[in-house]
Amino acid sequence: MLYSEIADVFDRLERTSGRLEMTSIFSEFFKTLDPDTLRKVVYLSQGKLHPDFCGAELGMADRLVLRSVAFISGMPESRIDELWKKEGDPGTIAETLFKKRKQAALFSEPLTLDKVLRNLTLIENAEGRDSQDKKMKYLSNLLMDSGPTEARYLCRIVTGRMRIGAGSMTILDALADAFGTKEDRPDIERAFNITCDLGLVAETLAAGGVDSVKRMKVAVGSPIKVMLAERLPSVPLILGRMGGRCAMEFKYDGIRIQAHIGGGSVKLYSRRLEDLTSNFPDIAAELRKQCRAEEAIIEGECVAMGPDGSMLPFQNVTHRRKKHGMDQAVEDYPVRMFMFDILLADGEDMTLRPFEERRLKLAETFGLSEKVQLTTLEIVGTPEEGEEFFSRALAVKCEGVMAKSLSSEYRAGSRGFLWIKYKKDYEEALTDSFDLAVVGAFYGRGKRAGKYGALLMAVFDDESGRYCTVCKLGTGFDDAFLAGLPDMLDGYLSEARPSTVDAEMAPDVWFLPTVVLEVVAAEISLSPVHTAAKGAVKEDAGLGLRFPRFTGRVRDDKGPEECTTMSEVLSMYRMQTQDK
Ligand code: AMP
Repeated sequence: MLYSEIADVFDRLERTSGRLEMTSIFSEFFKTLDPDTLRKVVYLSQGKLHPDFCGAELGMADRLVLRSVAFISGMPESRIDELWKKEGDPGTIAETLFKKRKQAALFSEPLTLDKVLRNLTLIENAEGRDSQDKKMKYLSNLLMDSGPTEARYLCRIVTGRMRIGAGSMTILDALADAFGTKEDRPDIERAFNITCDLGLVAETLAAGGVDSVKRMKVAVGSPIKVMLAERLPSVPLILGRMGGRCAMEFKYDGIRIQAHIGGGSVKLYSRRLEDLTSNFPDIAAELRKQCRAEEAIIEGECVAMGPDGSMLPFQNVTHRRKKHGMDQAVEDYPVRMFMFDILLADGEDMTLRPFEERRLKLAETFGLSEKVQLTTLEIVGTPEEGEEFFSRALAVKCEGVMAKSLSSEYRAGSRGFLWIKYKKDYEEALTDSFDLAVVGAFYGRGKRAGKYGALLMAVFDDESGRYCTVCKLGTGFDDAFLAGLPDMLDGYLSEARPSTVDAEMAPDVWFLPTVVLEVVAAEISLSPVHTAAKGAVKEDAGLGLRFPRFTGRVRDDKGPEECTTMSEVLSMYRMQTQDK
């Protein structure tokens, strides 16, 4: 297959902003592909060669890509550097320069998908001191045979930023459209949620139809999207929602870990599917020791512990996320794993079993030790019992409690009222913190002149796959953080408003939603300028955050699709107005 056919489809997608139109472009294209090619094309559409959790990354820095572009186009690097400062996207620069490059086509051979994949694999595997030179060489070799559009997407694939605005939800829509019906969409999505492998789901569906997809099961080595909780502001409301009785657990303030144990090894994944095994080698070893089953997938929260055996706040456990010097960090920051769920036990997919049964299975399957424990749990049937349990959680420095429906299955990748969190903040400030995606920036004035002074922040609408603004954030930044913002954000600059962003405010620069920051606010109010939940409460008004402040926490454990959703903000707004 010619790579230009794929690049042309990406180009059509990039020119389209409506999700329905994008779905139909993908769907028509998917139908023409054999299952194996479809799998590869699905990964490429996300700027990847494999599913996220494989950890392998093409990871070429913009500057390196631009050196290849300079080499092939004959344009001096200094000129390209200027263009890059203006454009921010090596792909667009390559395309512009390649349009002028007429004669190269005479000597070049058409690029095939196979050749592209071969060279991309070489780029991914390049190691050693001259790895950067090697990567440049393999990319240049592809660019030599590329037309302008092909070059644009090659540069984007190797940097991992495709800018076509097609997230996993659009691909799932297109798969249902191409190989099934609308009614099959939930089964296809569930298969994705329990495997986190869009390419595998696509291939299975194209090869064996919806029935094969329905038969897909959780498996060791393939992370499962985590189940998430809604929030409510009081124990009576929680009990009302849970039918009068539920399990309550302490809500620990650490890092969520999904552990896959089997085949003699253990792998630990973060909720963003990063492999954290080397960050928590002590926990991996202890889980392996304590596990009585051949195979298991469990979840728990890893919490940093003080010398006196008390739990320390979240910031302490982040020292374990470092890339280097882990041996020292393991010693300096002892942690404990508090297990709360089991999703696979000896070949048995537990995700569809009720919580009560899963919890018993968890306790049966693992021995306990100082390092590996179960979350503290109680069955609660009255508000008094719930309040008392909540106070006990706070007394041992937990954030609050998690209420869980005793009869509920494990809903991979979904947030709902089967799990409800209740935190101390809700009593004090009414609202929880928000994890928001940066979609734009405004240049500062005065002391902040020439730097980004404020950011445009958005929530994610998981129904439409779009980002909607909720606040302009200019408070809570210290000088060092402000100075570091260009480094953190400029790789995601976008020439115009990204097609997935809904905004009425016009910042000085736009970013592809990528970086997630934690923000607190005084309250949620109706806003004439923000687009979150536009029209849901009042015609022509959206919801905005009043007095938003950055907490200092960059949520690099969350991707943009995991930030606070629009429906959460709407329910928090309703919770807040109810309270008043
Ligand atoms: P939040 O990040 O505020 O939405 O809260 C959900 C997170 O709380 C989960 O993703 C876990 O990391 C964490 N957590 C702490 N304790 C528990 C528990 N007992 N059950 C489930 N999640 C927990």
